[in-house]
Amino acid sequence: MDAIAAAQVLSEIGYLLRQDPKEVFRAKAFSAAAWTLAVERPDLDALHTANKLTTIEGVGAGIAKVLAGLVETGRSSYLERLRAETGQPAREDESIIDLTKYQGDLHSHTDWSDGRATMLEMARAAKALGYKYLGVTDHSPRIKVVHGLDAERLLAQSREREQVEKEVGGLALLQGIEVDILEDGSLDLPDPVLELLDVVIASPHVKLRQEESSMTERMIRAVSNPNVDVIGHPTGRRPGSREGATYDFEKVFREAARHGVALEIDCDPARMDLSPEHARLALECGCNFSLDADAHAPAELAYVPMAAWLAGRAGIPMDRILNFRPLEALTMIAK
Ligand SMILES: [Zn+2]
Ligand SMILES: [Zn+2]
Repeated sequence: MDAIAAAQVLSEIGYLLRQDPKEVFRAKAFSAAAWTLAVERPDLDALHTANKLTTIEGVGAGIAKVLAGLVETGRSSYLERLRAETGQPAREDESIIDLTKYQGDLHSHTDWSDGRATMLEMARAAKALGYKYLGVTDHSPRIKVVHGLDAERLLAQSREREQVEKEVGGLALLQGIEVDILEDGSLDLPDPVLELLDVVIASPHVKLRQEESSMTERMIRAVSNPNVDVIGHPTGRRPGSREGATYDFEKVFREAARHGVALEIDCDPARMDLSPEHARLALECGCNFSLDADAHAPAELAYVPMAAWLAGRAGIPMDRILNFRPLEALTMIAK
């Protein structure tokens, strides 16, 4: 049993458990164990044979039992039961996501805003995973608590980007921003600044409980901005603790598709946004996707391999996911 495949099973179990408020603690334990597997990639067969699955950090008796079942049968009866109980059974039209073809993550943070590592540390981690590119997308000025970047600091950051790219070698660092979608749908940086960047991720962070029709207007205005490449964590939800924004999803997704704006599947276990259900709707609306970790530290890059099951459950073919495209095919960069 491949550690990444097992990580995805534990991640999905964690996700399904999170939908029950009483299970949040257990949900987090499953997500944390999934993360350990995705980061450390232990040899599960050997550990199971030696009866040592519980030596994996965060794996207690309960999770070890699930892993043992996986090693022995290749499937998890616990996951199947949870899927049935939560009304989210496996579907025939799910897609296969081959993570060995993943080219790079478009959404990450550094200590220029609220990341906990330097750009160099993030770049080295991405390189070690075999990525060809990494989007450096720190926050825009509105997010004051995290020291968001204005035009001047973006310029300073671009100098560091060049240096780090040289130092690491073989990894393209895309200069980007995670720009806030303001209440009226305008963006937190002027267009002439956004125009210069390789990747513009526009995300809703505040006033998520806006009334549905104005939220719809807000999101449509954001996807209509020609500088926007991706809508980051499109609802802002935090399963188990915060409901996301509600808007006319179909209308917004159709507009996003029309403008060539991709929708993100944010793989942070606290977000998982889009949900499988919304991702499926976005697929039907013709959207492309970006499968990102939204990493704030090097180890968080592993959120993508552990949560890629979500794209598969939504039936998204790999050619609709930007991260499987080589750098030269990322048209946004020339945009
Ligand atoms: Zn964000
Ligand atoms: Zn982010």
